[in-house]
Amino acid sequence: MKTVAIIGSGFGGLALAVRLQGRGYKVTIYEKQEKVGGHAYQLKKDGYTFDMGPSLITATEIIDDVFKSTGEEREKYLEYIPLDPYYRIYFHDKTFIDYNGDSDAMKSQLAKFNKDDAKAYDKFMEYSSKLYKIVISDRMGSQPFLSMKDFFKAAPKIISTKSMLSCYTNVKFFFKDFRSRFIFSFHPLFIGGSPFNSPSLYLMIPYLEKVGGVWFTEGGMYSLIEALEKVFKKHGGIVKTSTEVHRIIIEDGKAVGVKTKNGEEKFDLVVSNTHFAHTYKDLIEQDKLTKWKKDNVNKMKYSMSCYLAYIGTKKQYPELMHHTLILSERYKGLIDDIFENKILADDFSMYLHVPTKTDSSMAPEGCESMYVLIPTPNLKADVDWKVEKDRFTRRVLNFLENDFGMKDLQKNIDFLEVFTPMDFLSERNNYLGSAWGVQPTLFQSANFRPHNRSEDVENLYLVGASTHPGAGVPGVLLTAETTEKLIMKDHPI
Ligand SMILES: Cc1cc2nc3c(=O)[nH]c(=O)nc-3n(C[C@H](O)[C@H](O)[C@H](O)COP(=O)(O)OP(=O)(O)OC[C@H]3O[C@@H](n4cnc5c(N)ncnc54)[C@H](O)[C@@H]3O)c2cc1C
Repeated sequence: MKTVAIIGSGFGGLALAVRLQGRGYKVTIYEKQEKVGGHAYQLKKDGYTFDMGPSLITATEIIDDVFKSTGEEREKYLEYIPLDPYYRIYFHDKTFIDYNGDSDAMKSQLAKFNKDDAKAYDKFMEYSSKLYKIVISDRMGSQPFLSMKDFFKAAPKIISTKSMLSCYTNVKFFFKDFRSRFIFSFHPLFIGGSPFNSPSLYLMIPYLEKVGGVWFTEGGMYSLIEALEKVFKKHGGIVKTSTEVHRIIIEDGKAVGVKTKNGEEKFDLVVSNTHFAHTYKDLIEQDKLTKWKKDNVNKMKYSMSCYLAYIGTKKQYPELMHHTLILSERYKGLIDDIFENKILADDFSMYLHVPTKTDSSMAPEGCESMYVLIPTPNLKADVDWKVEKDRFTRRVLNFLENDFGMKDLQKNIDFLEVFTPMDFLSERNNYLGSAWGVQPTLFQSANFRPHNRSEDVENLYLVGASTHPGAGVPGVLLTAETTEKLIMKDHPI
């Protein structure tokens, strides 16, 4: 039996572990934290349950495929609950849209902003569906991109759909009103990218949501992590939590094992699900590397970070949906401050996740469990989060109570815990606190992205947000498919 060590138990690591274990490899997961899940970690305290990161479930068929890869049925482990609206988006002028996949509902709301935008909706969705076909149906998203040859094979599709242009540039061709332009271009932010320089392939997300829906599961996103862990263990997989890997052992240019506090353990193959920069900067001795030496790793562009406040309130807030976005007046300016200028601006746009709107068991009776997520620059910014943490929290709570209008919010807070970009670095080993890994720009996509098979070390593979196709739950589940294909080709059972 071929033995595989997977370092990290994010969605990508877990999905690959399930897939390989199902194929007959003997897989051991090493996880630094007490529980598996990575960004999808769960915080459970004082009667409140929070998903700490991902909250929107989309592309359910990609999730179901992971269960199927071991002959399991997802339905036996959990049910999906459909959400409608998918999210409510509040603009700075207090207008809002309840965004969903219903063409008529969307068009009648868009018409209030601009009549031509309502007419452009079908055309945009047709465009989005073409991109969806390329990435999801034709599985470009899980094809290994290892050379320029692979890139040139995909190039005609990229050129014919103008996918090399930024999301915002393409959306501007379709829509006139600032609100419509935001609604259909912001999705790269879900995966750590700027709408102003992420390639338009990510404009497949509106169609992906329309055709596949947005979902939740009872108990939250973590129940999906628990189900995958259960399947993995049922098929014989081993999980070692609270076991950080300190070194990938390399002999004669080949990965042969891992070193932890418990000593060295040998494996036929090693896969890293950790942040790309952590893998190459911290886990491998520099003299074992050619392409990904520190200087080259440092030159890559890394995704944004974010501020998160997990809040339990004694009162419920009907103005909030399960998913709610509250936006600043500035769009490009704010995005530039986050990605380019790397400053913590005076204004912010935020995303609120309120799972108690769908599953009341996630808070004590009559209470609300919610998190506030605010995109921020990564730690390249000159911000001392030890100082800024409390000041920023006060600004956020004051804004929500006084400007947005959540009545008596601060009086009703029963639970509050904050997670900052510093925590992404210290808790999850995210270089620069960049929570979505390598930023998804055109020149950091496909074969320009760190490869799923290491370019430097034989028998070392990568999986997760920094590899092809990229971040987001559907994205990292596809990285697991990509890496699985490579391992099966290189090391057949
Ligand atoms: C706040 C937030 C909200 C998000 N919301 C959504 C959403 O709603 N929908 C969506 O689709 N996507 C969302 N995303 C993106 C998505 O969650 C991530 O892209 C995805 O979960 C990352 O998975 P991964 O496989 O790359 O691993 P990660 O989740 O990054 O996990 C890596 C794991 O490796 C472990 N590790 C690190 N170093 C070591 C080491 N040396 N030894 C052992 N273990 C180690 C870490 O502890 C961690 O558990 C969100 C992300 C964030 C941060």
